[in-house]
Amino acid sequence: MEGISRRRLLRGVGLAAAGAATGAVGVTEVPRWCGWDHPPLSGGYAAAADNQGAVGTSSVHIRYFVETSRPLVALTFDDGPAPRYTPWFLDALEEAGVPATFFMVGRNVRDHSGLVKDRLDGHEVGNHSWAHRDLATMDLPQIQDDLRRTREIIEEKLGRTPTLMRPPFGHLGGSTVLAADSLGYDVVLWDRQMRERRFKDDPAGQAKDLVDTVRPGSIILAHDVGDERRLVALEALKDLVTGLKARGFEFVTVSGLISRQ
Ligand SMILES: [Zn+2]
Repeated sequence: MEGISRRRLLRGVGLAAAGAATGAVGVTEVPRWCGWDHPPLSGGYAAAADNQGAVGTSSVHIRYFVETSRPLVALTFDDGPAPRYTPWFLDALEEAGVPATFFMVGRNVRDHSGLVKDRLDGHEVGNHSWAHRDLATMDLPQIQDDLRRTREIIEEKLGRTPTLMRPPFGHLGGSTVLAADSLGYDVVLWDRQMRERRFKDDPAGQAKDLVDTVRPGSIILAHDVGDERRLVALEALKDLVTGLKARGFEFVTVSGLISRQ
């Protein structure tokens, strides 16, 4: 009898702890997550709690768009700078008279900063990691090193200090949140995007798709590097700008969007 009672008691304690964590009150089933088949609560790529005081701040924002009633929109270009096709996008933006935010890859800044160095007036530069590895597979120290290295090359080559970071592929692990916070970054994702596959030969369709669906505070994803499909964004840019301006939208950088929300 005593043994059974102790087992029941111990089982009850474990379930009470589980219930406290989940809000569950059942006592007949052990939740599946009680096993060890999940990433650890601290360290690794997934954990987002600062269990060990590694960060020390708690100010990071994660934005897909910016909540605002003002008709503001931010264009963003990822993965550059590179000979294919960053200068063309800069030309098109200059012609359209709109600013953009470029989330740059550190090693591309190292190799191709000359393409953009004197052409960034009015534009913003964000941190898009050193080599476009998937940060959602890396732990906190690895990501901190990666983002620091990228910031340093942007400062050295372009004289800018980025305050925004975008994780490659939009993949976000807990360690990325902690790394961004520890280095003073806000995380910027997107809520609209160029759909190069769908509109590969239809830049007018691509422009219309965005003109019809952008909302105040939208952040649009595009790429200034890659295969030829990327060029639909270039070809659509003029119609996109014209169409959104006709709807009363003003183009701003992401930081401009945040500060004017
Ligand atoms: Zn990217």
